Amino acid sequence: MIKKRAFVLIALALLLVSSPRPEIAAQAGRVTAIRCGRLINPVDGTVTQNAVIIIRGDRIEQVGAGLGVPGGANVIDLSAYTVMPGLIDCHTHVLLQPEDERGAPPVVVKSQAYRTVQGVAAAKKDLEAGFTTLRDVDSEGAGFADVAIRDAINRGIIPGPRLLVSTLALTITGGHMNNAGLNPDIPVPEPASLTDSRDAMIAEVRRQVKYGADWIKLYATGTLRHVDPVTLESLSQVSVEEVRAIVREAARWRRDVAAHAYGGDGAKNAIRGGVRSIEHGMLMDDETLKLMVEHGTFWCPTLSVYIPEHEEDNTELRRRIVASHKEVFQKAMRLGVKIAFGTDVGAYEHGTSAREFVRMVDYGMKPIDAIRSATTRAAELLRMERQIGAIEPGKFADVIAVEGNPLDDIRAMTRVVFVMKSGQVYKSPR
Ligand SMILES: [Zn+2]
Repeated sequence: MIKKRAFVLIALALLLVSSPRPEIAAQAGRVTAIRCGRLINPVDGTVTQNAVIIIRGDRIEQVGAGLGVPGGANVIDLSAYTVMPGLIDCHTHVLLQPEDERGAPPVVVKSQAYRTVQGVAAAKKDLEAGFTTLRDVDSEGAGFADVAIRDAINRGIIPGPRLLVSTLALTITGGHMNNAGLNPDIPVPEPASLTDSRDAMIAEVRRQVKYGADWIKLYATGTLRHVDPVTLESLSQVSVEEVRAIVREAARWRRDVAAHAYGGDGAKNAIRGGVRSIEHGMLMDDETLKLMVEHGTFWCPTLSVYIPEHEEDNTELRRRIVASHKEVFQKAMRLGVKIAFGTDVGAYEHGTSAREFVRMVDYGMKPIDAIRSATTRAAELLRMERQIGAIEPGKFADVIAVEGNPLDDIRAMTRVVFVMKSGQVYKSPR
């Protein structure tokens, strides 16, 4: 009997230690008032001057112009800035760093421990750049370290955005996220899970959910090395039946699937198979874009990451891919594809994702729509539209401020001076 009670107590203690603790639990009920110079509401596209946001604990309580500040409230003065909801990046890799894209693969030259430390620093940088939520789509060979970073953030151990993680991605032998060009006689860990049959794919979805995945990431096509330089045809890695099996298994656990797909049959199979979002998609044809509209599939374009940063990357193939990306983006806007903000940050420096806004507007998107892609639209992709993506009563108090007016000059999005996540301030104007 005593033994049984001790067991129950230990189990309870473990549960308390392991359950995510909202970082603001200590200040639950505390009231904060934010005075905004200009408040952008992505829901209806309106701009309000001199609005006040009232926050209680981790939630928005009231918002509007002419609101009185409750007595005893902590007042934050952002009257010199433009205020908007915390941003959401739907395609990130906190465990990937720019140097991992050049030279030896990180699974060969870096320990998991070192990569995790780098991931902790990356998460902080992305948060301070105004991104209060990230969908992190693939730990890039760092195993389940993304789960560890997510949990440490939720427990208030380290600062970082609200993370939705995908752990290892599903791919096939020889496809994307395989180490290429290595001696086959030396065993080296592969960056993704090689799943070569439908049964293996289903089992891998179960394993990833078991160890903490919020999302399932699938490589539905290959990468740049798998693109035919003449025809721009992209290697398809999955059949529609395989995608359906993965999506159905993920749905059992209430998870969604994000599919890396450049175009061709791989993209079409992913859409027909029921994935929630297509990543990259720079070689998609009109038929594929129409399929996306028909199926309600979201698109994370990740435009900036394909712009060569180094002269040796500025190849003919890359120039053709970048040109196609722009064209597909403009067609997708015209056809009404649901475009959600996604960057692939990690392949370039963490904390600089806002460059994607500049690119989107440069390619013809209205600034308010670019902001929507990273707030209301992104929240919808994540099925979190009741919690994040807008400054409305009942939602998490995720609030940022920028210098200048991004509706006039989108580059203001790169000048984030204030970041609040769940009612807690992580960055303030000097
Ligand atoms: Zn990526």
